[in-house]
Amino acid sequence: MSAPAPKPGAGDAAPGRRLRQLADLAVTVLRGVGESAARDLDELDIATVFDLVTHYPRRHIDGTRMVTIDRLVEGEKAAVVATVRRVSAPPVRPGRGRRGPSRVELDVVDRGGRMKVTFFNQAWRARQMAVGSLAVFFGPVSSFRGAVQMVNPTVEVLQGPDEPDAAPTAGAGDGDGDGDGAAVGRIYPVYPLTEKGSLTSARIGRMVNEALDRAGTFADPLDSDTRHRHGLLDRTAAFAGIHRPTSMDEVEPARRRLAFDELFRLQLALVLRRQRLHEDARGIVHATNRTDGPTLMQQFVDGLPFALTSAQARAVADLVGDLGGPLPMHRLLQGDVGSGKTVVAVAALLIGVEGGHQGALMAPTEVLAEQHAVEVRHLVDGLVVADLATLAGERPLRVALLTSRTGAAERTAIHEGLADGTVDLIVGTHALLTDRVVFRSLGVAVIDEQHRFGVEQRAALRDKGRGADGQGRDPDLLVMTATPIPRTAAMVVFGDLDMTVIDEMPPGRQPVVTSWLRTPLEVEQAWSRVREQVGSGHRAFVVCPLVEGSDRVEAASATAEAERLAEGELAGLRVGLLHGQMKPADKEHAMEAFRAGDLDVLVATTVIEVGVDIPDASVMVIEDADRFGIAQLHQLRGRVGRSGEPSWCFLLSGSGAPEATARLEAMEASTDGFVLADVDLELRGEGTILGARQKGRSDLKLARLLSDRDLVADARSLAIELVGSDPLLDSHRLMVEELRLFIDDDEAEFLFKS
Ligand code: ADP
Ligand code: MG
Repeated sequence: MSAPAPKPGAGDAAPGRRLRQLADLAVTVLRGVGESAARDLDELDIATVFDLVTHYPRRHIDGTRMVTIDRLVEGEKAAVVATVRRVSAPPVRPGRGRRGPSRVELDVVDRGGRMKVTFFNQAWRARQMAVGSLAVFFGPVSSFRGAVQMVNPTVEVLQGPDEPDAAPTAGAGDGDGDGDGAAVGRIYPVYPLTEKGSLTSARIGRMVNEALDRAGTFADPLDSDTRHRHGLLDRTAAFAGIHRPTSMDEVEPARRRLAFDELFRLQLALVLRRQRLHEDARGIVHATNRTDGPTLMQQFVDGLPFALTSAQARAVADLVGDLGGPLPMHRLLQGDVGSGKTVVAVAALLIGVEGGHQGALMAPTEVLAEQHAVEVRHLVDGLVVADLATLAGERPLRVALLTSRTGAAERTAIHEGLADGTVDLIVGTHALLTDRVVFRSLGVAVIDEQHRFGVEQRAALRDKGRGADGQGRDPDLLVMTATPIPRTAAMVVFGDLDMTVIDEMPPGRQPVVTSWLRTPLEVEQAWSRVREQVGSGHRAFVVCPLVEGSDRVEAASATAEAERLAEGELAGLRVGLLHGQMKPADKEHAMEAFRAGDLDVLVATTVIEVGVDIPDASVMVIEDADRFGIAQLHQLRGRVGRSGEPSWCFLLSGSGAPEATARLEAMEASTDGFVLADVDLELRGEGTILGARQKGRSDLKLARLLSDRDLVADARSLAIELVGSDPLLDSHRLMVEELRLFIDDDEAEFLFKS
């Protein structure tokens, strides 16, 4: 690490060590790292010094506050830092035909005394705990033949035998002042390790120490003014505070600063992306009013059998603003299940059609696309568009459905209609993205996102507007989420979009009464409610378990369940079946029969998860509900309660697993999708929400979307502020340099045109 720190220069080019420099150094430049250690580090995805210093402890053990062995109280849980003095693993005794449990016994000592630690059936502990290693033992205290003992405690090895203490500085002692506890009295970072790797946490700690010592002072992309404004430490203090704190109080401020950097880099990329899209845009200025009468959109809204909620009206106003402007819309529409997003989406599509353009609505599944097509056709029924080729000068607005199951002849006809402009609205799946789909002029595209489409699909749909020759214009884009995601998560996942939230349900809705039924006796409640509701003219869904294996197996199990119910609990009712293996025509037939009331009960796999709109359905029974995630359960439940009448959701599950219990209890406690989204995030962590959606997301190592809401918002506002005042970030070269560490070349090319 002999590269000199850069000289102070323009703007933020503060002196000090840059992350880029560390990223250019292989870990082997460190004294303590040879070939074999480098191989072990590689297992942890650590190749450079930068990787190493951003390999953060998963927790810290506060050695300054440990109880010593002489103060342990039998029957209580405690944590002790102690050195292993003796390890014995008696050979397993062949006990009467069966092998008895294996047993590993340790004698451990600290300055307070000696303790016995016994592990049953953890033979590997004998290898983990060599004599001389220092470890934290955490568990209930018992006694054995008069000696203090812990049985099967949780263990964190801090140092292997013969390993020097990693601490560069002595931590604060606990004031007792007696000497032999050199190992106590400091804070131990506990690093993530691989299963089989030979690295210890202490070893990594020493490497990090060397790296930080040699790196010296870090260059900071945030000037002191900005840091002060956001309550953030400088970067040098942050790296020290997370890797080698001298008190536990240093850890959280350090984490906050480093988490801010992660979030800020991400927001910077998203805000820049938006900025570039705008710079490159060739948008359409849509006609949002008309002098000779109401627009298509106004006719549509006026013709609805209900008034828009004020949240829907606000959303439409946002869209009108975007669509009437020169920049293409990039907007996310969030709203809870049943909040009426479809109506808003159709309003947007119609604004596009008004000026002679076309609209596209893309859904993630066939069933949903089919459902949307039915709904959209119904909603636009009676609307006409200008057509000079006809005698009347107008014709009915034409809606087409295109999925991979559309027959060849029909598909060709639709392709032609899209190319010559006689198809006004197209509803479909990924099939809309194939090369053969060419629009005469795509004006507005709506993506029903359901977290399944990524940035690439959005871009592909946008490219449909530009056409094969690239001469066309950019369609306006509306992305809808089928289930709310927490606001901060939305900023991270969809931070390159503007956001509209529908935070109000249509009037007169009653919350779906939700019960978790655990025993066969309780489950009978569900079936008796189904019989009662069908008796008074309503309908019921029964969702069958997710079955591991193939769709075929799942379909077979749904079929069997439908038969079982039709002959058992629901005998006498008209029970239908819907699963993914059925032919499209049969699916449509089943949906139609259920919609029309020719079936009382629809037994289905999760194909009905999204979008199905049957206001008369009042009962939802979900079997093996513990197999579903919160978002999915909430979606399924959203299929009922879509009118003013009371409705019920029964979650069938005998599972007592803690995670499942938390999910099912949350479902019972709330019908608010935004509340449930927070619970979901808390239970599952950010990984699942972020997924592998976009490069750079893996940068979030320390940031927590739920508890770091304020950091997300701060990072976003700072990114907007900087890009607003310096779109090319010319005077923020250090930030650009850092951002490039986290994005791939294509993205860098797009963001920095270089
Ligand atoms: P989402 O897609 O947001 O889950 P939908 O658009 O499917 O919700 O709407 C749910 C139901 O509410 C539909 O039956 C729809 O016709 C109805 N609906 C939508 N907006 C209103 C409103 N303002 N007043 C009454 N009913 C409405
Ligand atoms: Mg809908």
